[in-house]
Amino acid sequence: EPPQRLAKVLAAAGVASRRSSEELIFQGKVTVNGSVCNTPQTKVDPGRDVIYVNGNRLAKKLPPKVYLALNKPKGYICSSGEKETKSVLSLFDDFVKSWNKKNPGLPKPRLFTVGRLDVATTGLIIVTNDGEFANKVSHPSSNLSKEYIATINGAVNKRHLITISEGTVIEGVHCTPDLVELLPQQPDISRPRLRIVVHEGRNHEVRELVKNAGLQIHALKRVRIGNFRLPSDLALGKHVELTTANLRALG
Ligand code: URA
Repeated sequence: EPPQRLAKVLAAAGVASRRSSEELIFQGKVTVNGSVCNTPQTKVDPGRDVIYVNGNRLAKKLPPKVYLALNKPKGYICSSGEKETKSVLSLFDDFVKSWNKKNPGLPKPRLFTVGRLDVATTGLIIVTNDGEFANKVSHPSSNLSKEYIATINGAVNKRHLITISEGTVIEGVHCTPDLVELLPQQPDISRPRLRIVVHEGRNHEVRELVKNAGLQIHALKRVRIGNFRLPSDLALGKHVELTTANLRALG
């Protein structure tokens, strides 16, 4: 194996995304052969160099990559951090346990989400241990489109749709959706529903677009990323493993 950049090696080992791996290195949390290494570009050979992250030895042998599509329930956050909130990663405890049984001797997969959904948002979120992949898919330059279904409190008229389609400024950037349309009324759902497709992936983007038009969101669900659609029979809190064809559909 030719030597590779330290940040890339950490990302490939599933420590975190490339960006977060660089952060860990800058913060002095990574040692190479006994000394702190602050430069993500340092070339290392994971088979030869002894690398520690937060005091944990990076395994020589890399765990296989896993790619999972979760139907996120409400009330779960997409980071591992804070104490009082449940993380979507806790929904994978059983998965990790059975994975460990099937892969004895290998380090357990350290899962993280590809991008984020708000705590109140439901639907498709990808979970993986592949930092390179997470970086590629969630980076704004990937230009992957994301489709949401927003259920609205109150009536929706043409003017609302025009205002949403004109976009709004989020974090100093003018964001316009790729598509906004009112879905046909369904007999069993009384609230109007909007299909909104965006590609920027700004924080709270869909909620901001809808709020800016004077509408109130009752529920928000992501149903598609790129060409991968959330399987309609996947229950909340459940996941499926992505096939290589699914991964290609994600760009
Ligand atoms: N846009 C939002 O407003 N919320 C999400 O969770 C995702 C996109």
